[in-house]
Amino acid sequence: MRAFRAVGGTPRFMVSGTGPYLTDADGREYVDLVCSWGPMILGHSHPEVTAAVQEAVSRGTSFGTPGEGEVALAEEIVARIEPVEQVRLVSSGTEATMSAIRLARGFTGRAKVVKFAGCYHGHVDALLAAAGSGVATFGLPDTPGVTGATAGDTVVLPYNDLDAVRAAFAAHPGEIACVITEASPGNMGVVPPADGFNAGLKELCAANGALYISDEVMTGFRTSKAGWYGVDGVRPDLMTFGKVMGGGFPAAAFGGRGDVMAHLAPAGPVYQAGTLSGNPVATAAGLAQLRLLDDAAYARIDAVSAELRSLVGDALTKEGVAHTVSAASNMFSVFFTDRPVRDYDDARKQDVFRFTAFFHSMLEQGVYLPPSAFESWFVSTAHDERAVERIAAALPAAARAASEATA
Ligand code: PLP
Repeated sequence: MRAFRAVGGTPRFMVSGTGPYLTDADGREYVDLVCSWGPMILGHSHPEVTAAVQEAVSRGTSFGTPGEGEVALAEEIVARIEPVEQVRLVSSGTEATMSAIRLARGFTGRAKVVKFAGCYHGHVDALLAAAGSGVATFGLPDTPGVTGATAGDTVVLPYNDLDAVRAAFAAHPGEIACVITEASPGNMGVVPPADGFNAGLKELCAANGALYISDEVMTGFRTSKAGWYGVDGVRPDLMTFGKVMGGGFPAAAFGGRGDVMAHLAPAGPVYQAGTLSGNPVATAAGLAQLRLLDDAAYARIDAVSAELRSLVGDALTKEGVAHTVSAASNMFSVFFTDRPVRDYDDARKQDVFRFTAFFHSMLEQGVYLPPSAFESWFVSTAHDERAVERIAAALPAAARAASEATA
């Protein structure tokens, strides 16, 4: 994505960030609506996070032992998210989902994993399969380097389709270890779960002896103090986290039911480890960021998100551009179609060429949007009135560009 493959043109090389702004290597400033793909929820170079990092660095950067920072960060996660009884720190969201799936397989003694087309869980081999819609399609590798054998244990289903999940359990009795889903997807654009979808997944998993894994790498600590769990209250067996919890550093985690986590080494037989897991600098950054994320911070992010959604919607409407502004709490994206978007197939039917024109116009005017029509936009507590005004000023021309674009 950062290579601009989806939109064409030259990617911007950023050299610094302050609050809601990024500055590129040519000295141009942009209002940032990517926020490093989610982590920078307090904006860039937040003074308290920077101070915590500097203090941690001054004491040494990695010890390879248990440490106070990882315990404090783990306690903060457990305190915020009630279904997390135990948590293990890792260094990336990919590691978190990979480890959670290994644990689910080890715990259940089963091999198959159900995922949904359009949901991204990092570049875990077994999850790089999204074989489009169709009930119980077997995963085909999405990339060279992933073998058919690895992807063959992955069952890819259309999102928001509980009947497809029911059919998959019926087709593979006693074989499915887990269903993994983005708590509220943001990797096909923002496509929230339909009412009752997550609860239905939980129920079907419980009825069939499989684990329900909610991937909150993107939504965790962003969509509310307790992430998407704080929004829909559906209790997963395992959860994964990343992005916001690292404060801009590589820190991620997985956790959940104590009896499941007890299967993890060293207490249990399922191996998991990492040289830099619980790194003292990363945990200091994450902890400083989480401690600043109080109710007022979420209220601020929600308000900025709502204002931007309405500004974007109005600008596109004014130019007669078919669109849907889709939101899940403060995460949002714009689909260039007025048909409802409930799954990846729907998302792919939008007029991507209009997004491309819109994106480049915003970029030229100093607003850095995610360089793809299939990504969430992110805001931070640092997006103040001035930043919003700059976005508002850029929207009319960008909406016009979208309207005039041709396929
Ligand atoms: N899960 C979700 C929902 C994500 O959005 C991402 C990354 O965007 C990942 C997992 C992978 O995280 P990472 O890029 O830290 O490996």
